[in-house]
Amino acid sequence: MILLNDFKQQYGSLKNQIFEAIDAVGQSGWLVLGKEVQQFEELTQSLLNCYYSIGCANGLDALELALRVLDIKPGEKVLTTPLSAFATTLAILRAGGKPVFVDVDETGLIDLKQCEIALQNNQEIRFFIPVHLFGHAINLGQLKHLKEKHELLIIEDCAQAICAKSKEIYVGSIGELAAYSLYPTKNLGCYGDGGFVTTNNFDYAEKVKCLRDYGQTAKYEHKFLGLNSRLDEVQAAILNRALLPKLAEFTSRRKQIAKLYLENITNDLIQLPRIPLDSDSVWHLFPILCENRDELQTFLKAKGVQTGVHYPTLITDQIALHQNQNNYEIIGSLSHAKKFAQYELSLPLHPFLTDAEVEKVINQCNQWEL
Ligand SMILES: *Cc1c(COP(=O)(O)O)cnc(C)c1O
Repeated sequence: MILLNDFKQQYGSLKNQIFEAIDAVGQSGWLVLGKEVQQFEELTQSLLNCYYSIGCANGLDALELALRVLDIKPGEKVLTTPLSAFATTLAILRAGGKPVFVDVDETGLIDLKQCEIALQNNQEIRFFIPVHLFGHAINLGQLKHLKEKHELLIIEDCAQAICAKSKEIYVGSIGELAAYSLYPTKNLGCYGDGGFVTTNNFDYAEKVKCLRDYGQTAKYEHKFLGLNSRLDEVQAAILNRALLPKLAEFTSRRKQIAKLYLENITNDLIQLPRIPLDSDSVWHLFPILCENRDELQTFLKAKGVQTGVHYPTLITDQIALHQNQNNYEIIGSLSHAKKFAQYELSLPLHPFLTDAEVEKVINQCNQWEL
């Protein structure tokens, strides 16, 4: 079976570094918020060209921490997308905000033109969480324009798009803060849960550090009602020694595979991914659209190709959201987002795919007929 993600192969190739990492932490005698987390923060600062990086427990918390740093008030509206991991919206609700959903465009990312209209008509909206979905960079020029015109406070959800660029600028550079997940399936994943927040603002960085550690400013001095959301030393050590040194190589392999798919899948029944203008994508996923998605998925499975669906249910259709009708708002129709929920299929895309496996996926896609 050609897998969507192959963690056994990853472990096989990184085993020595992972053992060294665990050993180093054990030998150090320091298990939480120590030298390894600090080094991880320094490494990601220089990788992403930002002033501050702060490790935390997961991507959901990274988003919640960022919203709380911006002092969101109960019921304040946050513009966001209905097509993402549920965590994007869950973070807004947990921080006390009210998600306001706008449709995506043909790329699957939130439609910035629709956002512009929504913001014109709803001047009270101050917060915006765009998601760099599938590894694509949303157009940062347009995002910056929107931010300045409407004086928005932006948190970029970069969970799927570490190192993606829009016209040579990294995602995460336009927002007040950016949130990353280190969940194993992400382009930079650890051996369990992890996340981090980046920002160029000193005060925001200090407040994230405080909020991730019970809201304490010094030991046993609690200034805010914080979270327990710390990145483990063991996870940071594994990232520093095993995964971060491989990120550039893994990302370029992802780009290579995406290029092969784009150039060689030629079945008229399959619509290849559309990419936002100026995006240098890091291809977290390879999302195709197919009107007979379920048949194609069954066919590929029978041929030994595992696929995924991102996402089968829009966030606006999730039961958890409907517990309270006043929980959220939808502006306009969500017709593009619905199309993704109905027709999207993700082909295998990970750094350990061989050329022969990529070729097999391409051939099977091309051979499929109704
Ligand atoms: C994975 C993901 C998250 C949540 O990250 P966790 O580490 O799983 O909490 C948030 N947003 C997006 C877009 C994601 O893909």
